Amino acid sequence: MIKQNLHIHSNYSWDSKMDIDTIAEILVKNNISYGALTDHVEFSREPLSYVITKLNIRNINIDRINQKYQGKLTLLKAVEISEPHWYQDEVEKLNEEVELDFIMGSIHTIKRDAISTYDREKATYQYYKEILKMIEANQIDVVGHLDYINRYYKKDYSLYNQITDVLDAIKEHNMIIEINTSAERRCHLNVFPSLDKICRYKLTQDEIIIGTDAHAFNELTDNLEQAGLIAKELGLQPVIIQKRKRINI
Ligand SMILES: [Zn+2]
Ligand SMILES: [Zn+2]
Repeated sequence: MIKQNLHIHSNYSWDSKMDIDTIAEILVKNNISYGALTDHVEFSREPLSYVITKLNIRNINIDRINQKYQGKLTLLKAVEISEPHWYQDEVEKLNEEVELDFIMGSIHTIKRDAISTYDREKATYQYYKEILKMIEANQIDVVGHLDYINRYYKKDYSLYNQITDVLDAIKEHNMIIEINTSAERRCHLNVFPSLDKICRYKLTQDEIIIGTDAHAFNELTDNLEQAGLIAKELGLQPVIIQKRKRINI
């Protein structure tokens, strides 16, 4: 049984209604010892001061939960920042003001244009170009749902060499990726990123995190078994990240 779900959105994310107490109850009931609240940080949507206050209150709640479930469950204090490299000063300030175990960076939009305004090859190229810029800004620990653009196309238009550059940059900047199981429920793909990319990632490094990108209670254990199996078969070690340091579990 896989022991972690390191991609969960609580009601401190704009698009989730899940309260932390019930999240914790469900994780404990399913013998998941590590959860990470990766609440959305979208500076285009919420001002920095609001984000700081909100996350500091959330963290007090996480401390309370960790106390309550000591030895059974550890909730990690994380965030999923959209396009963090567009907001480098804000990210730096956030880091100073809020205690974070890790920062996940995700690309949800390309250059503020709708993905649909590009043709598919061009959009995919732009998406990975943006991923590369995000990695090179060097502010994050985890690259979130690599391949997310495939949710719109259900087909992979990525260029082999561009993926090589992305995976090399992830390694070079001491980052890791996640196996994100939301691909199946969102677009009937297997996982994010695709299996061939996870295999290529394994050629560069051995550690990974696993998460369901849960926004609802019934998504808290979604396909975790399958992700655990993928990691095991490929020889990838699931780790947790505490105070920005990776720990084997
Ligand atoms: Zn996301
Ligand atoms: Zn997410």
